[in-house]
Amino acid sequence: MNILHISAECYPAAKVGGLADVAAALPKYMNKAGHKAELIMPYYNNKFFRDHSWEVVRESDFNLGVTAYPYRILKEKTDTLGFTLFTTEIPGLLTEEFPYGYWNDVQRHLGFQIAVADWLSHTSDLPDVIHCHDHHSGLLPFMIDYCFRYNSLKDIPTVFTIHNGSYHGAFSRDQSSLIPPFDNWKTGMLEWTNAINPMASAIKCCWRFTTVSRSYLQELQQYALGLESLIVSERQKSLGILNGIDTELWDPATDSYLEKNYTTDTVTSGKIKNKSALCEEFGLDPEKMLVVFIGRLVSDKGADLLPESIIQSVSEYEDKVNFIVLGSGDGRLENNLTSLAATLPASFQNYIGYNEKLAHLIYGGADFLLMPSRVEPCGLNQLYALRYGTIPIVTATGGLKDTVLDLAMAGGFGIRFEEAVVRNIVNAIGRAVLLFEDEEKFSEIRKQIMTIDHSWQHAVKEYLDLYSSMK
Ligand code: ADP
Repeated sequence: MNILHISAECYPAAKVGGLADVAAALPKYMNKAGHKAELIMPYYNNKFFRDHSWEVVRESDFNLGVTAYPYRILKEKTDTLGFTLFTTEIPGLLTEEFPYGYWNDVQRHLGFQIAVADWLSHTSDLPDVIHCHDHHSGLLPFMIDYCFRYNSLKDIPTVFTIHNGSYHGAFSRDQSSLIPPFDNWKTGMLEWTNAINPMASAIKCCWRFTTVSRSYLQELQQYALGLESLIVSERQKSLGILNGIDTELWDPATDSYLEKNYTTDTVTSGKIKNKSALCEEFGLDPEKMLVVFIGRLVSDKGADLLPESIIQSVSEYEDKVNFIVLGSGDGRLENNLTSLAATLPASFQNYIGYNEKLAHLIYGGADFLLMPSRVEPCGLNQLYALRYGTIPIVTATGGLKDTVLDLAMAGGFGIRFEEAVVRNIVNAIGRAVLLFEDEEKFSEIRKQIMTIDHSWQHAVKEYLDLYSSMK
Protein backbone atom coordinates (compact mmCIF):
# COMPACT_ATOMS: atom_id res chain seq x y z
CA MET A 1 0.00 0.00 0.00
CA ASN A 2 1.06 3.54 -0.67
CA ILE A 3 0.22 5.82 2.28
CA LEU A 4 0.73 9.56 2.61
CA HIS A 5 0.78 11.00 6.14
CA ILE A 6 0.09 14.68 6.60
CA SER A 7 1.28 16.29 9.81
CA ALA A 8 2.38 19.65 11.21
CA GLU A 9 5.07 17.98 13.33
CA CYS A 10 7.57 15.19 12.77
CA TYR A 11 10.61 14.42 14.94
CA PRO A 12 13.39 15.51 14.52
CA ALA A 13 12.31 18.08 11.90
CA ALA A 14 9.90 19.85 14.29
CA LYS A 15 8.57 18.70 17.64
CA VAL A 16 6.19 20.28 20.11
CA GLY A 17 4.85 17.08 21.66
CA GLY A 18 3.83 13.52 21.05
CA LEU A 19 2.42 14.17 17.57
CA ALA A 20 6.00 14.58 16.32
CA ASP A 21 7.09 11.23 17.74
CA VAL A 22 4.08 9.42 16.30
CA ALA A 23 4.34 11.09 12.89
CA ALA A 24 7.98 10.03 12.67
CA ALA A 25 7.42 6.46 13.81
CA LEU A 26 4.27 5.50 11.91
CA PRO A 27 5.67 5.86 8.35
CA LYS A 28 9.00 4.36 9.44
CA TYR A 29 7.38 1.22 10.82
CA MET A 30 4.85 1.01 7.96
CA ASN A 31 7.82 0.93 5.57
CA LYS A 32 9.45 -1.77 7.67
CA ALA A 33 6.19 -3.73 7.32
CA GLY A 34 6.69 -3.66 3.54
CA HIS A 35 4.51 -0.71 2.56
CA LYS A 36 5.39 2.63 1.04
CA ALA A 37 4.59 5.28 3.62
CA GLU A 38 5.65 8.89 3.19
CA LEU A 39 5.00 12.10 5.09
CA ILE A 40 4.52 15.72 4.16
CA MET A 41 4.84 18.56 6.66
CA PRO A 42 5.11 22.35 6.51
CA TYR A 43 8.52 23.94 6.02
CA TYR A 44 9.87 25.60 9.18
CA ASN A 45 12.70 28.05 9.38
CA ASN A 46 14.84 25.89 11.67
CA LYS A 47 18.17 24.09 11.56
CA PHE A 48 16.75 20.78 10.34
CA PHE A 49 15.19 22.31 7.23
CA ARG A 50 18.17 24.57 6.54
CA ASP A 51 20.79 21.83 6.96
CA HIS A 52 19.15 19.02 4.96
CA SER A 53 19.37 18.65 1.19
CA TRP A 54 16.13 18.89 -0.72
CA GLU A 55 15.03 18.07 -4.23
CA VAL A 56 12.29 20.16 -5.83
CA VAL A 57 9.41 17.94 -6.95
CA ARG A 58 6.89 20.63 -7.80
CA GLU A 59 6.94 24.38 -8.17
CA SER A 60 3.74 26.36 -8.60
CA ASP A 61 1.51 28.86 -6.81
CA PHE A 62 -1.90 29.03 -5.16
CA ASN A 63 -4.29 31.63 -3.90
CA LEU A 64 -5.16 32.14 -0.27
CA GLY A 65 -8.15 34.45 -0.65
CA VAL A 66 -6.85 37.30 -2.78
CA THR A 67 -3.18 36.72 -2.02
CA ALA A 68 -1.12 34.57 -4.39
CA TYR A 69 1.72 32.53 -2.90
CA PRO A 70 4.42 30.69 -4.83
CA TYR A 71 5.19 27.29 -3.34
CA ARG A 72 7.55 24.38 -3.82
CA ILE A 73 7.18 20.77 -2.75
CA LEU A 74 10.59 19.58 -1.58
CA LYS A 75 11.67 16.02 -1.00
CA GLU A 76 14.40 15.25 1.53
CA LYS A 77 17.23 13.65 -0.45
CA THR A 78 18.71 11.16 1.98
CA ASP A 79 15.67 9.48 3.59
CA THR A 80 17.43 9.88 6.94
CA LEU A 81 14.20 9.30 8.84
CA GLY A 82 13.56 5.87 7.36
CA PHE A 83 10.89 7.16 4.96
CA THR A 84 10.51 9.84 2.33
CA LEU A 85 9.86 13.22 3.87
CA PHE A 86 8.29 16.01 1.82
CA THR A 87 7.77 19.59 2.83
CA THR A 88 5.79 22.56 1.52
CA GLU A 89 8.00 25.59 1.14
CA ILE A 90 5.83 28.71 0.94
CA PRO A 91 7.91 31.92 1.03
CA GLY A 92 6.02 34.77 2.64
CA LEU A 93 3.76 32.40 4.58
CA LEU A 94 5.78 29.60 6.19
CA THR A 95 8.57 31.79 7.47
CA GLU A 96 8.53 30.89 11.17
CA GLU A 97 10.68 28.58 13.26
CA PHE A 98 8.00 26.74 15.24
CA PRO A 99 4.81 24.92 14.22
CA TYR A 100 2.29 27.02 16.17
CA GLY A 101 1.65 30.17 18.11
CA TYR A 102 1.66 32.86 15.43
CA TRP A 103 -0.97 35.48 14.60
CA ASN A 104 -1.51 33.93 11.16
CA ASP A 105 -1.71 30.24 12.16
CA VAL A 106 -5.04 29.90 10.32
CA GLN A 107 -3.44 31.09 7.08
CA ARG A 108 -0.28 29.03 7.68
CA HIS A 109 -2.20 25.79 8.24
CA LEU A 110 -4.50 26.50 5.29
CA GLY A 111 -1.63 27.39 2.97
CA PHE A 112 0.07 24.13 3.89
CA GLN A 113 -3.07 22.09 3.15
CA ILE A 114 -3.76 23.89 -0.14
CA ALA A 115 -0.17 23.29 -1.29
CA VAL A 116 -0.53 19.58 -0.44
CA ALA A 117 -3.88 19.28 -2.27
CA ASP A 118 -2.57 21.20 -5.27
CA TRP A 119 0.52 19.00 -5.49
CA LEU A 120 -1.50 15.78 -5.19
CA SER A 121 -3.96 16.90 -7.84
CA HIS A 122 -1.02 17.27 -10.25
CA THR A 123 0.84 14.07 -9.51
CA SER A 124 0.34 10.73 -11.21
CA ASP A 125 1.77 8.75 -8.29
CA LEU A 126 -1.28 9.06 -6.06
CA PRO A 127 -1.38 7.46 -2.61
CA ASP A 128 -3.88 4.70 -1.79
CA VAL A 129 -4.67 6.39 1.50
CA ILE A 130 -4.32 9.94 2.79
CA HIS A 131 -3.82 9.96 6.56
CA CYS A 132 -4.29 13.37 8.22
CA HIS A 133 -3.13 14.05 11.76
CA ASP A 134 -4.89 16.59 14.02
CA HIS A 135 -6.66 19.79 13.03
CA HIS A 136 -3.72 21.32 11.13
CA SER A 137 -4.54 18.97 8.26
CA GLY A 138 -8.21 18.60 9.19
CA LEU A 139 -9.62 20.57 6.26
CA LEU A 140 -8.05 18.29 3.66
CA PRO A 141 -10.84 15.67 3.72
CA PHE A 142 -13.33 18.48 3.02
CA MET A 143 -11.17 20.04 0.31
CA ILE A 144 -10.73 16.67 -1.37
CA ASP A 145 -14.46 16.04 -1.31
CA TYR A 146 -15.88 19.44 -2.15
CA CYS A 147 -13.30 21.82 -3.68
CA PHE A 148 -13.87 21.66 -7.44
CA ARG A 149 -10.20 21.78 -8.38
CA TYR A 150 -9.30 18.68 -6.34
CA ASN A 151 -11.96 16.49 -7.96
CA SER A 152 -9.34 14.00 -9.13
CA LEU A 153 -8.59 13.07 -5.49
CA LYS A 154 -12.18 12.26 -4.53
CA ASP A 155 -11.82 8.49 -4.52
CA ILE A 156 -8.79 8.36 -2.25
CA PRO A 157 -9.80 7.15 1.22
CA THR A 158 -8.98 9.60 4.01
CA VAL A 159 -8.17 8.70 7.61
CA PHE A 160 -8.06 11.32 10.33
CA THR A 161 -6.34 10.74 13.66
CA ILE A 162 -7.21 12.80 16.72
CA HIS A 163 -3.99 13.09 18.68
CA ASN A 164 -5.36 15.90 20.78
CA GLY A 165 -9.06 16.74 20.77
CA SER A 166 -8.53 19.83 22.93
CA TYR A 167 -7.41 21.88 19.94
CA HIS A 168 -9.90 22.30 17.08
CA GLY A 169 -8.24 25.09 15.08
CA ALA A 170 -11.63 26.85 14.73
CA PHE A 171 -11.84 30.19 12.93
CA SER A 172 -14.48 32.65 11.79
CA ARG A 173 -16.85 31.94 8.90
CA ASP A 174 -15.74 35.32 7.52
CA GLN A 175 -12.53 33.61 6.47
CA SER A 176 -14.21 30.91 4.40
CA SER A 177 -13.02 32.65 1.23
CA LEU A 178 -9.49 31.51 2.13
CA ILE A 179 -10.55 27.97 1.21
CA PRO A 180 -10.37 27.23 -2.52
CA PRO A 181 -13.81 27.44 -4.27
CA PHE A 182 -16.12 24.68 -3.05
CA ASP A 183 -19.68 23.50 -3.37
CA ASN A 184 -21.54 26.05 -1.23
CA TRP A 185 -24.27 23.56 -0.40
CA LYS A 186 -21.64 21.72 1.61
CA THR A 187 -20.69 24.59 3.91
CA GLY A 188 -22.21 22.64 6.80
CA MET A 189 -19.44 20.06 6.42
CA LEU A 190 -16.93 22.76 7.39
CA GLU A 191 -18.68 24.15 10.41
CA TRP A 192 -19.50 23.53 14.02
CA THR A 193 -21.32 26.03 16.25
CA ASN A 194 -21.16 28.90 13.77
CA ALA A 195 -17.45 28.68 13.02
CA ILE A 196 -15.24 26.81 10.61
CA ASN A 197 -13.91 23.97 12.72
CA PRO A 198 -11.15 21.85 11.11
CA MET A 199 -11.38 19.15 13.77
CA ALA A 200 -15.16 18.80 13.34
CA SER A 201 -14.91 19.04 9.56
CA ALA A 202 -12.34 16.24 9.48
CA ILE A 203 -14.55 14.01 11.62
CA LYS A 204 -17.48 14.66 9.29
CA CYS A 205 -15.65 14.29 5.97
CA CYS A 206 -12.99 11.61 6.53
CA TRP A 207 -13.73 7.99 5.68
CA ARG A 208 -12.58 6.76 9.10
CA PHE A 209 -11.23 8.51 12.17
CA THR A 210 -9.10 7.19 14.97
CA THR A 211 -8.02 8.28 18.44
CA VAL A 212 -4.71 7.33 19.99
CA SER A 213 -6.20 5.11 22.68
CA ARG A 214 -9.48 3.29 23.22
CA SER A 215 -10.34 4.98 26.50
CA TYR A 216 -9.83 8.41 24.94
CA LEU A 217 -12.36 7.59 22.24
CA GLN A 218 -14.92 6.73 24.91
CA GLU A 219 -14.07 9.85 26.89
CA LEU A 220 -14.47 12.08 23.83
CA GLN A 221 -18.06 10.91 23.55
CA GLN A 222 -18.66 12.46 26.99
CA TYR A 223 -16.36 15.46 26.82
CA ALA A 224 -14.83 16.94 23.68
CA LEU A 225 -15.19 20.70 24.15
CA GLY A 226 -18.51 20.76 22.33
CA LEU A 227 -17.83 18.00 19.77
CA GLU A 228 -19.28 15.17 21.90
CA SER A 229 -22.52 14.78 19.94
CA LEU A 230 -20.61 14.78 16.65
CA ILE A 231 -18.25 12.09 17.89
CA VAL A 232 -21.19 10.03 19.09
CA SER A 233 -23.08 10.42 15.81
CA GLU A 234 -19.99 9.49 13.74
CA ARG A 235 -18.83 6.72 16.06
CA GLN A 236 -19.53 3.97 13.52
CA LYS A 237 -16.46 5.12 11.59
CA SER A 238 -14.21 5.53 14.64
CA LEU A 239 -11.52 3.32 16.13
CA GLY A 240 -9.12 3.66 19.07
CA ILE A 241 -5.57 2.57 18.23
CA LEU A 242 -3.01 2.87 21.01
CA ASN A 243 0.24 4.59 20.03
CA GLY A 244 3.50 2.73 20.21
CA ILE A 245 7.01 4.02 20.84
CA ASP A 246 10.03 3.92 18.59
CA THR A 247 12.02 1.27 20.40
CA GLU A 248 15.13 2.05 18.36
CA LEU A 249 15.20 5.71 19.35
CA TRP A 250 14.06 5.02 22.90
CA ASP A 251 16.30 2.22 24.10
CA PRO A 252 18.25 2.55 27.36
CA ALA A 253 20.74 -0.01 26.05
CA THR A 254 21.88 2.29 23.23
CA ASP A 255 20.56 5.78 24.04
CA SER A 256 23.50 8.12 23.48
CA TYR A 257 21.93 10.82 25.66
CA LEU A 258 22.33 8.69 28.76
CA GLU A 259 25.30 8.88 31.09
CA LYS A 260 25.30 5.07 31.26
CA ASN A 261 23.46 2.59 29.06
CA TYR A 262 21.69 -0.30 30.72
CA THR A 263 19.44 -3.32 30.17
CA THR A 264 17.09 -5.23 32.47
CA ASP A 265 20.14 -7.05 33.85
CA THR A 266 22.02 -3.88 34.66
CA VAL A 267 19.11 -1.57 35.44
CA THR A 268 20.00 -0.99 39.08
CA SER A 269 23.58 0.12 38.51
CA GLY A 270 22.69 1.88 35.23
CA LYS A 271 19.98 3.96 36.79
CA ILE A 272 22.18 4.89 39.74
CA LYS A 273 24.75 6.36 37.33
CA ASN A 274 22.13 8.30 35.38
CA LYS A 275 20.45 9.49 38.55
CA SER A 276 23.77 10.69 39.96
CA ALA A 277 24.54 12.61 36.78
CA LEU A 278 21.08 14.13 36.77
CA CYS A 279 21.12 15.03 40.46
CA GLU A 280 24.57 16.53 40.11
CA GLU A 281 23.33 18.72 37.27
CA PHE A 282 20.47 19.98 39.46
CA GLY A 283 22.28 20.00 42.83
CA LEU A 284 20.00 17.34 44.36
CA ASP A 285 20.84 14.45 46.70
CA PRO A 286 20.83 11.22 44.62
CA GLU A 287 20.10 9.10 47.71
CA LYS A 288 16.56 10.44 47.91
CA MET A 289 13.71 9.10 45.79
CA LEU A 290 13.39 11.12 42.58
CA VAL A 291 10.00 11.96 41.04
CA VAL A 292 9.94 13.80 37.71
CA PHE A 293 7.48 15.51 35.41
CA ILE A 294 8.17 16.12 31.73
CA GLY A 295 5.72 17.91 29.49
CA ARG A 296 3.79 20.94 28.42
CA LEU A 297 2.89 23.10 31.41
CA VAL A 298 -0.82 23.26 30.65
CA SER A 299 -3.99 22.41 32.53
CA ASP A 300 -4.72 19.25 30.47
CA LYS A 301 -1.46 17.84 31.87
CA GLY A 302 -2.43 18.83 35.43
CA ALA A 303 0.74 20.94 35.53
CA ASP A 304 -0.97 23.63 37.65
CA LEU A 305 -1.23 21.05 40.44
CA LEU A 306 2.52 20.52 40.60
CA PRO A 307 3.63 23.36 42.93
CA GLU A 308 1.17 22.56 45.71
CA SER A 309 1.66 18.79 45.33
CA ILE A 310 5.41 19.23 45.61
CA ILE A 311 5.15 21.49 48.68
CA GLN A 312 2.81 19.07 50.49
CA SER A 313 4.80 15.96 49.52
CA VAL A 314 8.08 17.46 50.68
CA SER A 315 6.57 18.34 54.04
CA GLU A 316 4.61 15.07 54.50
CA TYR A 317 7.32 12.64 53.57
CA GLU A 318 9.96 14.21 55.75
CA ASP A 319 12.22 15.23 52.93
CA LYS A 320 12.48 11.70 51.55
CA VAL A 321 11.60 12.78 48.07
CA ASN A 322 13.06 15.06 45.39
CA PHE A 323 11.33 16.46 42.31
CA ILE A 324 12.48 17.67 38.90
CA VAL A 325 10.14 19.32 36.38
CA LEU A 326 11.11 19.76 32.72
CA GLY A 327 8.64 21.72 30.66
CA SER A 328 7.34 24.95 29.30
CA GLY A 329 3.95 26.48 28.67
CA ASP A 330 1.85 28.69 30.92
CA GLY A 331 4.04 31.69 31.84
CA ARG A 332 2.63 32.15 35.36
CA LEU A 333 3.19 28.52 36.16
CA GLU A 334 6.73 28.69 34.80
CA ASN A 335 7.39 31.58 37.22
CA ASN A 336 5.74 29.74 40.14
CA LEU A 337 7.90 26.70 39.56
CA THR A 338 11.05 28.77 39.30
CA SER A 339 10.26 30.55 42.60
CA LEU A 340 9.47 27.22 44.23
CA ALA A 341 12.85 25.88 43.14
CA ALA A 342 14.43 28.88 44.88
CA THR A 343 12.37 28.23 48.04
CA LEU A 344 12.98 24.46 48.20
CA PRO A 345 16.36 24.14 46.44
CA ALA A 346 17.29 20.86 48.13
CA SER A 347 14.04 19.14 47.16
CA PHE A 348 12.88 20.62 43.90
CA GLN A 349 14.51 21.86 40.71
CA ASN A 350 13.11 22.73 37.32
CA TYR A 351 14.18 23.37 33.75
CA ILE A 352 11.90 25.70 31.84
CA GLY A 353 12.17 25.04 28.13
CA TYR A 354 12.42 22.20 25.68
CA ASN A 355 15.43 19.87 25.94
CA GLU A 356 15.37 16.50 24.23
CA LYS A 357 18.70 15.33 25.66
CA LEU A 358 17.70 16.20 29.20
CA ALA A 359 14.36 14.43 28.73
CA HIS A 360 16.20 11.20 27.90
CA LEU A 361 18.52 11.55 30.90
CA ILE A 362 15.52 12.19 33.13
CA TYR A 363 13.71 9.05 31.93
CA GLY A 364 16.99 7.19 32.53
CA GLY A 365 17.73 8.64 35.97
CA ALA A 366 14.36 9.04 37.66
CA ASP A 367 12.69 6.58 40.02
CA PHE A 368 9.10 7.68 39.28
CA LEU A 369 7.44 9.70 36.52
CA LEU A 370 4.43 11.75 37.58
CA MET A 371 1.64 12.41 35.04
CA PRO A 372 -1.32 14.00 36.82
CA SER A 373 -3.12 14.64 33.52
CA ARG A 374 -6.75 15.74 33.39
CA VAL A 375 -6.84 14.75 29.73
CA GLU A 376 -4.38 12.34 28.13
CA PRO A 377 -5.22 11.07 24.62
CA CYS A 378 -2.46 8.45 24.77
CA GLY A 379 0.58 9.83 26.53
CA LEU A 380 4.00 8.76 25.39
CA ASN A 381 5.95 9.80 28.47
CA GLN A 382 4.66 6.90 30.55
CA LEU A 383 5.61 4.49 27.74
CA TYR A 384 9.15 5.89 27.58
CA ALA A 385 9.31 5.75 31.39
CA LEU A 386 8.32 2.07 31.39
CA ARG A 387 11.01 1.22 28.89
CA TYR A 388 13.59 3.06 31.00
CA GLY A 389 12.53 1.32 34.23
CA THR A 390 10.91 4.44 35.69
CA ILE A 391 7.64 3.69 37.47
CA PRO A 392 4.66 5.80 36.34
CA ILE A 393 2.34 7.61 38.76
CA VAL A 394 -0.69 8.61 36.69
CA THR A 395 -4.30 9.70 36.61
CA ALA A 396 -6.58 6.92 35.38
CA THR A 397 -7.58 8.73 32.21
CA GLY A 398 -7.32 8.14 28.45
CA GLY A 399 -4.19 6.32 27.34
CA LEU A 400 -2.80 6.34 30.88
CA LYS A 401 -5.68 4.12 31.96
CA ASP A 402 -5.01 1.80 29.02
CA THR A 403 -1.28 1.43 29.67
CA VAL A 404 -0.67 1.66 33.42
CA LEU A 405 -1.98 -1.02 35.77
CA ASP A 406 -2.04 -0.09 39.43
CA LEU A 407 0.11 -2.10 41.84
CA ALA A 408 -3.06 -3.32 43.51
CA MET A 409 -4.29 -4.91 40.25
CA ALA A 410 -3.24 -8.35 39.02
CA GLY A 411 0.13 -7.93 37.28
CA GLY A 412 0.13 -4.26 38.29
CA PHE A 413 3.28 -2.15 38.19
CA GLY A 414 2.32 1.52 38.49
CA ILE A 415 0.45 3.91 40.72
CA ARG A 416 -2.90 5.23 39.56
CA PHE A 417 -5.35 7.68 41.07
CA GLU A 418 -8.82 8.63 39.87
CA GLU A 419 -9.01 12.39 39.78
CA ALA A 420 -6.25 14.91 39.20
CA VAL A 421 -6.35 16.80 42.51
CA VAL A 422 -3.50 17.66 44.88
CA ARG A 423 -4.59 15.27 47.66
CA ASN A 424 -4.64 12.29 45.28
CA ILE A 425 -1.22 13.19 43.92
CA VAL A 426 0.30 13.53 47.40
CA ASN A 427 -1.24 10.21 48.47
CA ALA A 428 0.12 8.57 45.32
CA ILE A 429 3.59 9.93 46.09
CA GLY A 430 3.17 8.42 49.56
CA ARG A 431 2.54 5.02 47.97
CA ALA A 432 5.62 5.55 45.83
CA VAL A 433 7.71 6.25 48.95
CA LEU A 434 6.58 2.94 50.46
CA LEU A 435 7.43 1.09 47.27
CA PHE A 436 10.83 2.79 47.02
CA GLU A 437 11.62 1.70 50.56
CA ASP A 438 10.80 -1.93 49.70
CA GLU A 439 14.01 -2.41 47.72
CA GLU A 440 13.29 -5.93 46.53
CA LYS A 441 9.83 -5.15 45.18
CA PHE A 442 10.98 -1.86 43.68
CA SER A 443 13.78 -3.55 41.79
CA GLU A 444 11.53 -6.40 40.63
CA ILE A 445 8.97 -3.94 39.22
CA ARG A 446 11.65 -1.95 37.44
CA LYS A 447 12.75 -5.05 35.60
CA GLN A 448 9.16 -6.08 34.87
CA ILE A 449 8.18 -2.76 33.28
CA MET A 450 11.23 -2.62 31.04
CA THR A 451 10.03 -5.76 29.28
CA ILE A 452 6.51 -4.53 28.45
CA ASP A 453 6.18 -4.40 24.67
CA HIS A 454 4.91 -1.05 23.44
CA SER A 455 6.61 -1.24 20.06
CA TRP A 456 4.82 0.08 16.97
CA GLN A 457 4.21 -3.35 15.41
CA HIS A 458 0.75 -3.75 16.95
CA ALA A 459 -0.51 -0.28 16.05
CA VAL A 460 0.90 -0.44 12.53
CA LYS A 461 -0.98 -3.66 11.92
CA GLU A 462 -4.21 -2.09 13.19
CA TYR A 463 -3.77 0.93 10.91
CA LEU A 464 -2.97 -1.27 7.92
CA ASP A 465 -6.08 -3.37 8.60
CA LEU A 466 -8.10 -0.17 8.78
CA TYR A 467 -6.70 1.06 5.45
CA SER A 468 -7.44 -2.30 3.83
CA SER A 469 -11.02 -2.23 5.08
CA MET A 470 -11.66 0.97 3.10
CA LYS A 471 -10.64 -0.35 -0.30
P1 ADP B 1 1.69 15.81 24.28
O1 ADP B 1 1.80 15.43 22.85
O2 ADP B 1 0.28 15.99 24.75
O3 ADP B 1 2.53 16.99 24.65
P2 ADP B 1 2.82 13.18 24.86
O4 ADP B 1 3.01 12.45 26.16
O5 ADP B 1 2.02 12.47 23.82
O6 ADP B 1 2.23 14.62 25.20
O7 ADP B 1 4.26 13.49 24.23
C1 ADP B 1 5.15 14.35 24.81
C2 ADP B 1 6.48 14.21 24.10
O8 ADP B 1 7.17 15.47 24.20
C3 ADP B 1 7.41 13.19 24.74
O9 ADP B 1 8.32 12.73 23.75
C4 ADP B 1 8.16 14.03 25.79
O10 ADP B 1 9.38 13.45 26.17
C5 ADP B 1 8.35 15.32 25.01
N1 ADP B 1 8.48 16.55 25.79
C6 ADP B 1 7.48 17.29 26.32
N2 ADP B 1 7.97 18.38 26.91
C7 ADP B 1 9.31 18.35 26.74
C8 ADP B 1 10.39 19.21 27.11
N3 ADP B 1 10.17 20.33 27.78
N4 ADP B 1 11.64 18.87 26.75
C9 ADP B 1 11.86 17.71 26.07
N5 ADP B 1 10.89 16.85 25.69
C10 ADP B 1 9.64 17.17 26.02
